[in-house]
Amino acid sequence: MTDFTYAVDADGVATITWDVAGKSMNVMSLAGFQALSDQVDAGLADPAVKGIIITSGKADFAGGMDLNVLAKMKNDAGDNPAQGLFDGVMQMHKVLRKIERAGMDPKTLKGGKPIVAALPGTAVGIGLEVPLSCHRIIAADNPKAKIGLPEILVGIFPGAGGTTRLVRKLGAMGASPFLLEGKLSDPKKALSAGIIDEVVAPDQLLIRAKEWVLGAKDADLVKPWDAKGYKMPGGTPYTPQGFMTFLGASAMVHGKTYGVYPAAKALLSAVYEGAQVPFDTALKIEARWFTNVMLNPSSGAMIRSLFLNKEALEKGANRPDAPDQRVKKLGVIGAGMMGAGIAYVSALAGIEVVLIDATQEAADKGKGYADGILSKGIQRGKGTEAKRAEVLGRITATTDYTALKGVDLIVEAVFEDMAVKAEVTKKVEAVVGPDCIYATNTSTLPISDLAKASAHPEQFIGIHFFSPVDKMALVEIIKGKATGNRAVAKALDYVRQIRKTPIVVNDARFFYANRCIIPYINEGMRLLGEGVAPALVENAAKLVGMPLGPLQLVDETSLDLGAKIARATKAAMGNAYPDSAVDDIVFWMVGQGRLGRKSNSGFYAYDAAGKREGLWSGLADRFPQADTQPDVTEVQHRLLMAQVLEAVRALEAGVLTDIREGDVGAILGWGFAPWSGGPFSWLDILGAGRAVEICDDLTARFGDRFAAPPLLREMAAKGQSFYGRFGTQAKAA
Ligand code: NAD
Repeated sequence: MTDFTYAVDADGVATITWDVAGKSMNVMSLAGFQALSDQVDAGLADPAVKGIIITSGKADFAGGMDLNVLAKMKNDAGDNPAQGLFDGVMQMHKVLRKIERAGMDPKTLKGGKPIVAALPGTAVGIGLEVPLSCHRIIAADNPKAKIGLPEILVGIFPGAGGTTRLVRKLGAMGASPFLLEGKLSDPKKALSAGIIDEVVAPDQLLIRAKEWVLGAKDADLVKPWDAKGYKMPGGTPYTPQGFMTFLGASAMVHGKTYGVYPAAKALLSAVYEGAQVPFDTALKIEARWFTNVMLNPSSGAMIRSLFLNKEALEKGANRPDAPDQRVKKLGVIGAGMMGAGIAYVSALAGIEVVLIDATQEAADKGKGYADGILSKGIQRGKGTEAKRAEVLGRITATTDYTALKGVDLIVEAVFEDMAVKAEVTKKVEAVVGPDCIYATNTSTLPISDLAKASAHPEQFIGIHFFSPVDKMALVEIIKGKATGNRAVAKALDYVRQIRKTPIVVNDARFFYANRCIIPYINEGMRLLGEGVAPALVENAAKLVGMPLGPLQLVDETSLDLGAKIARATKAAMGNAYPDSAVDDIVFWMVGQGRLGRKSNSGFYAYDAAGKREGLWSGLADRFPQADTQPDVTEVQHRLLMAQVLEAVRALEAGVLTDIREGDVGAILGWGFAPWSGGPFSWLDILGAGRAVEICDDLTARFGDRFAAPPLLREMAAKGQSFYGRFGTQAKAA
């Protein structure tokens, strides 16, 4: 069975229906593309056919390209992958251009057959690029549908004509949120943006499509860019108005990406160069830039981590074999910052929540957090009163532990204190049923130790959320020594219900994410202490793709939290504690009352309204700048190596068992340079040999914290990569 089927009705309207067998969403494969091409040929060649409708047999139109297709084009081309890809992409352009021209005479622009795209639901990526080549796009009024070109978010850009067509349709300025930010719209918004042409009631979709086909005139089939006298909306680069747009866009993209995302730059080049030449040449330029991006290792790494592996983890790649553990009723203990967020995201996902705190006032305040977000949403036109009432109706805020009867999962988020947590565990277990899984949201306390307070340590687990809970996509699931499979399955099923991305790690100090981010912060402060200009530290970090410089990150998370963690770590590690140089800085800052954003003063200065103004001038007095400053690359190596070496050590120690989780967790958890695909992908791009060289150099000059872990050294000696060695099964040895 092919992915597309073809039928002609009595009125001479051919319908090509996209319906990939065995999948809930259509994705484009090479065979699918060929079938579409053949069926369009059949419709154009058959004198009985007056026009063609391209639609879907599913609730949605299409979710995009099967990314393996691009990999195959590259691989099949042997020694010359660039040529293979370019030829493959040009072949796609040919088919889509055939749809667009629809058999018309290229001179008179007459005699073509109307081709309409009828979209019942979501149409993204190639799922929108095919419609953009049609003569009209009609969408069903389905508010859940998403329409757009999100390729940039996984490190590529629309390469099947989407870039060239959208820019010619909307102008560079109009197209920029959709191309540069990957913005998705519902059908009505897509209509008002000018991406699609018409929105109709779902039951009218095919009726209206047919009506349009039968009524279309020659002029309706001519795309503006194929018509005489076409001018790009907003102007081409060398018109006064266009000049301003392109100049601004270039600066804006660089300001946002710091030049580390090859796709954004290539996209802009394709748009800029394409705008100055005829349409078919523009497609060729788009294909060349697309090939360029596809051959950049960053794109491959981003697709792998942010698309393929993220999805695999969300679908339960590391879920143990256990029956369905979806949560029906959840108990959240502690209605503070974290508990309130956890209650909100859970209730939003349809789960009944009992939210407990020590006082009714605190419990109500926690529930009020959900109310606040939902009410703000209504003000912004993003929710309804009914929805707010429904979600809030699922949260019971109380101090009464007996309300926990019947819950099947507990998430504890009380103070970070072993004794308080142990007492809560006992109180909860006295009420809940014997099968209830108990999770703690601790950020620093060992799960195996906390589990000692439980009568069922095999049902005890860590579910570590990141703040703010409703914004952060990652959830770290931590197995204690005694944690059993059902608890892991429960945690994974719960994370899936609340639509976040899980990683599963073993119990160790700071688990995975905090273990890697703390050395980053510390390295930033060490550099400051050594007399490196703080602006150099911060900018070097951003220039290598970190979302925040280390000093800004300390300000955001607060210096007193840093001091608290430092004291606790020192107590736990004794003489092995390595960070006194950093502590001097942290304690001094806390002594000055500069606690970060929360005190409106930290490494940065803030105005009265809390707006960050710039690095605090007092830093220069306390940390005089050295006469000789390091170069940017050296600072970047220190800041990145501090994180990735910790990731490698976590893998060596069995804290991480899957490098995919290490990469996805790093990007979603603390924003590790997304262009790199994550710490392991970055080391693979660098090569283990080069990584060891950098480590040896940094160790000689700055100390043993940069010593290459034995695993990395061994891989360098054997010429191995992380994905080569651990990738196929994606399980650590
Ligand atoms: P918080 O101080 O905002 O909230 C803790 C809440 O627990 C308070 O409302 C308090 O009244 C309540 N509480 C204390 N003892 C209680 C008891 N015996 N019974 C019922 N309620 C009790 O703290 P938070 O920032 O929400 O952190 C909670 C937990 O989450 C901690 O373990 C923390 O380490 C962890 N965590 C925090 C973050 C973060 O960024 N803040 C991130 C991940 C994990």
